[in-house]
Amino acid sequence: MNSDVLVIGGGIAGIEAATNLYLLGYSVTLVEQESELGGHVAQWNKLFPNYKNAHQIIQTLLQQLPGDITILRSTKIIHLSEKDRLFSVNLSNNSTITTKTILIATGYDLFDARLKEEYGYKIYDNVITSAELESLLRQNKPILTKQGKEPSRIGFVHCVGSRDRKINNLYCSKVCCVTAVKQAIEIRQKLPFCEAYCFYMDLRMYGLNFEELYNESQEKYGVTFIRGRLSEASETIDGKLILKVEDTLLGRPLKMTIDMLVLMVGMVPSKGTNFLIKELGLHINNGHFIASNDEHLRANHTNKHGIFVAGSASSPKTIDDTLADARSAAMAIHQFFKNSKL
Ligand SMILES: Cc1cc2nc3c(=O)[nH]c(=O)nc-3n(C[C@H](O)[C@H](O)[C@H](O)COP(=O)(O)OP(=O)(O)OC[C@H]3O[C@@H](n4cnc5c(N)ncnc54)[C@H](O)[C@@H]3O)c2cc1C
Ligand code: SF4
Repeated sequence: MNSDVLVIGGGIAGIEAATNLYLLGYSVTLVEQESELGGHVAQWNKLFPNYKNAHQIIQTLLQQLPGDITILRSTKIIHLSEKDRLFSVNLSNNSTITTKTILIATGYDLFDARLKEEYGYKIYDNVITSAELESLLRQNKPILTKQGKEPSRIGFVHCVGSRDRKINNLYCSKVCCVTAVKQAIEIRQKLPFCEAYCFYMDLRMYGLNFEELYNESQEKYGVTFIRGRLSEASETIDGKLILKVEDTLLGRPLKMTIDMLVLMVGMVPSKGTNFLIKELGLHINNGHFIASNDEHLRANHTNKHGIFVAGSASSPKTIDDTLADARSAAMAIHQFFKNSKL
């Protein structure tokens, strides 16, 4: 099978880039390891900052995806090799694709919260991740503790797996502050009697309408923000959680009992991204994601000729940033083909 461009990863970055590359006149093959396209966004419910429906965004992107693009679902990359500036890619369905360019859109994985043992994830019953809370909200399931009770106090811990020297993840994952604010509001809407506390180091409300959402969470929904890092969570005999937090605004330690703890897990390079980094000898940046050749001028180029990157495979990104980056990657590949013809 021959293709001008092989797009690896069928999340929103891969879908948007594939559509734009096809519209620019290229033959495109899109490979996704899962049975469905959409990546992480397909698992979300209502999106920050405006509660747009994640499912509808995926549906719109899929409707725009041209029928002439070859889409291989449930397919993995087994091996890649290069000869005379042509790539040969062996796939798990026993086929081989020959392509002039590869666009890596293999995205991120969620940080494994078990690595922050002191927070008690998978040790204590009522510690869950932001992705698990999102899944409960998406399925419209009741929010209950493992003991079957509606919680009367929920805590959200920011920066789990990000901005953390102990685990050598120094970067900010960009989406978790505003996700905490959005989810705290959703809890207050669903369970108006339940108090919601966010434990943060700094609040990064940089995007359009993020600050407004943060203001609304306090003024309309009474969410409480405590500046401080959680040092430890422990469990009581009845399944409640005792948090030890250093309140860095008041400069004193704080002890609080809550019913449920939500860990705002950050983004790390996905297994697929790490596999391609090794297989293709790609450079990585400070966050261990795929490094851009030049972050200002050649953000979608990697250190390897003919290999490009789009979306959260190069750094944590919101949906807007990911889609813009995917279109930018399509244009970078277009320029690459134009220049090769000169
Ligand atoms: C808890 C949470 C909530 C969020 N909520 C929002 C929100 O409300 N609003 C917002 O703007 N952003 C939100 N985001 C960010 C959003 O999830 C990302 O912007 C988006 O998922 C990035 O898309 P992507 O295509 O780059 O990566 P991904 O979504 O990770 O997709 C990558 C795709 O590549 C596939 N893949 C990986 N390796 C291979 C391989 N080797 N071969 C084939 N396929 C492979 C994967 O299966 C996946 O389908 C949230 C993030 C988190 C963590
Ligand atoms: S977005 Fe907020 S919670 Fe996420 S890593 Fe950055 S500062 Fe921490």
